[in-house]
Amino acid sequence: MNFTEVTTQRYPAATSEAVSKVMKGNRKADTRPEVLLRSALHDRGRRFFKNRRVSVAGISVRPDILFPTIKVAVFVDGCFWHRCPEHGNLPRGPNAEYWRRKLQGNVERDRRDGSLLSADGWFVLRFWEHEEIRDCVKSIEWALDRLSKPADTR
Ligand SMILES: [Zn+2]
Repeated sequence: MNFTEVTTQRYPAATSEAVSKVMKGNRKADTRPEVLLRSALHDRGRRFFKNRRVSVAGISVRPDILFPTIKVAVFVDGCFWHRCPEHGNLPRGPNAEYWRRKLQGNVERDRRDGSLLSADGWFVLRFWEHEEIRDCVKSIEWALDRLSKPADTR
């Protein structure tokens, strides 16, 4: 594997094998936990949009899973990229400062996006990639059932 060569245009070289692995696993738009969660929801008859942009206060936000009719937005955050308190260790070495800034930028953007969506009436759910899929499904369905209005009450 020559990961360093592939990524020099976008990121400085990964400074350890562990970081390199994490980065490689997170390069695609669809990370594995997202795929599993979407699949579980789909199996339960839930219909949604994936990676659809929402424009809020002139800023484009792209939740991983979106239920636009009842305004529920779901994010599945990678532990490395979004600095999970349990697994979000910062890379060490010569590029440590680069990574600290980059990852901190992600965290700040997450907060901003969440606030913008909430202020615009969205119900925002945010999960870590390490969370059990069935627990995520449970939370999402709780929100969907709670926010769906029966047709005959209007
Ligand atoms: Zn984690």
